[in-house]
Amino acid sequence: MPTTTRDRKAWLKGADARCNVPPETRVRPRRLVLLGAPGVGKGTQAELLAGHLGACHLSTGDIFRAAKSADPSELTPALTAAVECMRRGELVPDSTVLDLVAERISCLRCPGGFLLDGFPRTVTQAEALDTLLQKHKLKLDAVLSYELPIEQIVARLSGRRTCVNCKAVFHVEARPPKIPGICDHCGGSLYQREDDRPESIRVRMQAYETSTAPLTEFYRRRKLLVAIPAEGSPEDIFERTLHSLRSGHPAPHGQATV
Ligand code: AMP
Repeated sequence: MPTTTRDRKAWLKGADARCNVPPETRVRPRRLVLLGAPGVGKGTQAELLAGHLGACHLSTGDIFRAAKSADPSELTPALTAAVECMRRGELVPDSTVLDLVAERISCLRCPGGFLLDGFPRTVTQAEALDTLLQKHKLKLDAVLSYELPIEQIVARLSGRRTCVNCKAVFHVEARPPKIPGICDHCGGSLYQREDDRPESIRVRMQAYETSTAPLTEFYRRRKLLVAIPAEGSPEDIFERTLHSLRSGHPAPHGQATV
């Protein structure tokens, strides 16, 4: 379990920001993408992996949530429109997301590595990420695809709580904080995301089916996909994740080894 607070200032604030506590340089920095429907638990796994691998957890959703809490006069028109999309549970246009990620190239080049959570979300975004990484001579190690039946996903989403400060993710039943409503890591308050309400959940699941599910095929063809069953507790799933990263067993459709 992660015990330290990691600084993600550069990722959340943009091109000019610098992290106060950058991740340590790694001999072999891991560069991973985490895929899975909303609520499958990939944010929690990203947090656990960030603690284990020392890589930074980069979530595009967190950029939009940070923008939502910012002074509206500081937001560009594209970011204001993006926040509205998020409120409705819709995907933000690819061009907006890609501009934001390209501005943050220093995070992708970070010597601590990265764990991309919530990006890419469409094949267009995945192709643009490929191009961006190639341009900077970077390679993805693997794409972890978390898989879970839809009824279990809805149950997870409705109990999810997030820290206002460090963005750590809890669940009221499956991963409760030690003190209800308070983050174990930094003492911040926990809140329920606006887009975890039932009407937004339905829109998000639809967006996932049409736009994001085809990404698994995209990465399978590139032999980067590692499918991970997302049943059980966060610790069980984390064990499975580490096992998949270590084992390197070939999968029927071409599984990555990391
Ligand atoms: P997440 O925290 O990843 O579930 O993202 C929350 C919301 O932010 C999504 O429902 C979208 O509205 C928006 N969003 C985050 N990442 C992306 C992305 N890569 N492409 C389009 N929209 C995104």
